[in-house]
Amino acid sequence: MKAFPRVLIVEDEAPIAELIAVNLRHNGFTPIWAEDGDSAQRELDAVLPDVILLDWMLPGMNGLQLARKWRAAARTKGVPILMLTARGDEPDKVAGLDAGADDYITKPFSTQELLARIRAVLRRRAPEQVPEPIAIGALSLDAAAHRVSFRGQPLKLGPTEFKLLHYLMKHAERVHSRAQLLDKIWGDHVYIEERTVDVHVKRLREALGEASSMLETVRGAGYRFTGQG
Ligand code: CA
Repeated sequence: MKAFPRVLIVEDEAPIAELIAVNLRHNGFTPIWAEDGDSAQRELDAVLPDVILLDWMLPGMNGLQLARKWRAAARTKGVPILMLTARGDEPDKVAGLDAGADDYITKPFSTQELLARIRAVLRRRAPEQVPEPIAIGALSLDAAAHRVSFRGQPLKLGPTEFKLLHYLMKHAERVHSRAQLLDKIWGDHVYIEERTVDVHVKRLREALGEASSMLETVRGAGYRFTGQG
């Protein structure tokens, strides 16, 4: 992790933003505060942060809309987004992840939890050493170009599905438990439930289409990616 990572805090409530900023500063981060999507966009246009803390409920465009917009933009698509939300229920979490957020944290949260999550997304986004393209059967994945294709046809995958497929293809023919996948794909925190893995495996299978038979469910054990499928 580089020194003093820049954290863009997009939060309309000044006391919350202030509290987060003070804590980040004390822990070796460089916080930048934007109170809405427009001012956040100006910050992003000026200097890219290392991570974005994005509040869900904001005046103007909400956090979900902003996450989608920044994921779709070439300049910002690689910046990790950690959603801050006061809503704790599952459909909203899934919506946040769907919109391209890397993780979410439910208010109220402790400083330690927030710092741990930020460090985890930064570690997960750390560049891989020498990402060689991988091919199994007619399926190929090029991590450097962020492309997946089957029989030469490009497939469209969400960011988490891409990471999941990348990991499974790199470690094909082996069975991975949900807990192992959580650890490898989502990082070393315990806040995401194991069924989140199933949600993303389901999405990955949908995205893989005809190639989905290569991703096997091993009853009672987990998942395996195989060239024999
Ligand atoms: Ca808010």
